[in-house]
Amino acid sequence: MIKLEGIGASRGIAIGPVFQFERAELIVSPCAVTDTEAEICRLKKAIEVAVEELQQVHEKALQEAAASEAEIFEAHLMMLQDPELWGQIEKSVREDKINAELALVNVTKTFTEMLKVMEDEYFAARALDVQDVSDRVLRILLGVAESPTEGLEVPSIIFADDLTPSDTILLDKSLVLGFCTAEGSATSHSAILARGLGLPAVAGAGKAVLEIANGTQMVLDGGKGVLLLEPDAGTVQVYRARAERAKSVRENALKNASELAATADGRTVEVGANIGNADDARFAVENGADGVGLLRTEFLYLERAALPTEDEQYQAYKQILDVMDKGPVVLRTLDAGGDKEIVYLDMPKEMNPFLGERAIRLCFAHPELLKTQLRAALRASVDHNLKIMFPMIATLDEVRRGKAILEECRAELLAEGKQVAEDIEVGIMVEIPAAAIMADQLAKEVDFFSIGTNDLSQYTLAADRTNARVAHLSNAFQPAVLRLIRDVIRAAHAYDKWVGMCGELAGEPLAAPILIGLGLDEFSMSPPMVPLIKQIIRGLNADDMRGLANEALNLESPEEIRALVKSRVPIADIAT
Ligand code: PEP
Ligand code: MG
Repeated sequence: MIKLEGIGASRGIAIGPVFQFERAELIVSPCAVTDTEAEICRLKKAIEVAVEELQQVHEKALQEAAASEAEIFEAHLMMLQDPELWGQIEKSVREDKINAELALVNVTKTFTEMLKVMEDEYFAARALDVQDVSDRVLRILLGVAESPTEGLEVPSIIFADDLTPSDTILLDKSLVLGFCTAEGSATSHSAILARGLGLPAVAGAGKAVLEIANGTQMVLDGGKGVLLLEPDAGTVQVYRARAERAKSVRENALKNASELAATADGRTVEVGANIGNADDARFAVENGADGVGLLRTEFLYLERAALPTEDEQYQAYKQILDVMDKGPVVLRTLDAGGDKEIVYLDMPKEMNPFLGERAIRLCFAHPELLKTQLRAALRASVDHNLKIMFPMIATLDEVRRGKAILEECRAELLAEGKQVAEDIEVGIMVEIPAAAIMADQLAKEVDFFSIGTNDLSQYTLAADRTNARVAHLSNAFQPAVLRLIRDVIRAAHAYDKWVGMCGELAGEPLAAPILIGLGLDEFSMSPPMVPLIKQIIRGLNADDMRGLANEALNLESPEEIRALVKSRVPIADIAT
């Protein structure tokens, strides 16, 4: 048995075989051909295989009633028969005497560039379709497997370098027992996704884990960040027993999860969920969430080939609001950029994307993006408790600009005779140190704050949240981060504004006592953590926790702080 260690990214134990998620690169080597007709024949065969593949996925999309996906595949099938495109590729093989792969890449480039310069949403989407179809044929010509998940047939632990949100869309979740990534940390998006699904995960395990053969049996302990390769029967038994115990703690917590969480001395706090779509919203309700503290709207933009229209967004938000009924839903405007790249937006490559044109900055650069989203959100707000939140706010001017655009959208809708809910609260994410430092001024401009500890930690400690080598720094238990949290809550309370937290720290059992002590009003986390955190809060005395928080903030390291909480609050220890 071999033991490997990484970072505990999502609690829980997975026992099963390894499956390596490999993204194959399509590398084309130029070469001259003499028998051009044989080369064209090879190209035609590849197109035939592509047609078969597409017919199959089209059929599957129809069976699964995924109408918009089915339409995309229909368009791709038509494109495989486009005489203009394929005629030019054949011509290039014949006249330039080059291999089919190279001709395909060259002609596709000309076609997509031609479509892109038209600067129209429709043609931009067509450019993406041409690229998709061309990549499919190229992959077949190069003999590369169709998808990184080809061969995933039994429930497995997925191994990858790192997983982007768009990668995870490809995964059939019913076949995933857990995740292990070579890169990343507890707050990279693959870890957040694992937590949202209630799946155990280890991050930052190092490149060596990518060499483990498919099918190798293993135990993954997502709480401790441990991997055990080819465990003996005794070890498997121990871990199965631990998984059973955790399951019973969870089932117990689930019993009264939908009741409000009040501390033993009577302070009620809201415990909500972080979600990305209506399915997550239903999962949040099942787990007893009082509302949605963070709706990450970017997932709506990632799972498609072109920008979602106002109507599509309206439908998506309305579905979520209907699930939550009158419960609060904090909708965060588009937070693209950083490690969440939206391919069809053609975002320029940046040296430091986390410090670049991300989130609200990108929206200000493309105000029509923000306006479409805000109009959809405002339309969906009627008869619900919608709140709107701007991400990555660094300055007062940004809040004012965001609010002005929101007001412009409201006025437009009312002038068009459309309904909009009254008294929609407007807040900001406090996730940049500048915002935390200026919290007293910002508090005057907003109705609430939500602290994003994932980014606040990376920006405060100057430690990339996706980089395993600095994960010990990008850690919200760092006293520097906790002190900023204390200051933000104080500043907001001085203006009678409420403060929530939607960063991963809010779902950390060992952080709950400190956050109660600091006076946090709302906690928002991945749905599976809601029952446990509510149970922990019910066992705390808010007054006592004030003293504990004070002590914690005077300690020197995350380790000391965790140890202090463990020694004082036994229930938080059970949950780790
Ligand atoms: C955060 O930064 O803490 C946060 C909640 O936002 P995201 O993880 O989506 O960047
Ligand atoms: Mg953030």
